[in-house]
Amino acid sequence: MSMDMIKGMATTLKNMRRKPTTISYPEEERELPPRFRGRHVLHRYDNGMERCVGCYLCAGACPADAIYIEAEENTAENQVSPGERYSRVFDINMLRCIFCGYCQQACPTGAITLEKNYELAQFYSEDLIYHKEQLLEPEGQATIGSNETWAEPAPADAEQPVPQASHVFDGSRATATAVGQGETKVERDILLENPDQDEDRRKL
Ligand code: SF4
Ligand code: SF4
Repeated sequence: MSMDMIKGMATTLKNMRRKPTTISYPEEERELPPRFRGRHVLHRYDNGMERCVGCYLCAGACPADAIYIEAEENTAENQVSPGERYSRVFDINMLRCIFCGYCQQACPTGAITLEKNYELAQFYSEDLIYHKEQLLEPEGQATIGSNETWAEPAPADAEQPVPQASHVFDGSRATATAVGQGETKVERDILLENPDQDEDRRKL
């Protein structure tokens, strides 16, 4: 038996007692770091209103030009967010996204966060353009997501820019959501399909 074979056998025997570094995914999953950035989520307030006020700041901050928004005015009959506007269309092209988190940082209302879902594989590239209906959390499940993990503690004498502690719109003058028509219950079903969506923007 050559020296090389002995060395190889010794390495094998040495490692047989070690705990494997691999896991049986998908049955087992690794615990992710607290600040892991995965799939985006659009959040609501506890009263069901959408946090997004259609300000385009996230789209402006995105270095990959991955976010497409069409904003629309809120009206008394159709009050979707507490601001003046809401995003009627909100698309993220996940083929462009580099998961930098700048959109989350730029958002003044805590509307968009990057969460821990990393299972994003699809057979067709057009399925990796996520639409608002896929990004918005269901009504009755208002969360602030990873904002909690990322939020810097505010200085004691500063007004909190986003009402993150209570998870609800608090009417604070410092919040972008203070602009507009106030807190009104949205009485409409979540749209699973947006009939107004332009077919063209589903294509790459
Ligand atoms: S994570 Fe970065 S690249 Fe992805 S949509 Fe947000 S800003 Fe754009
Ligand atoms: S920055 Fe926030 S509020 Fe403004 S459009 Fe983007 S998600 Fe909506």
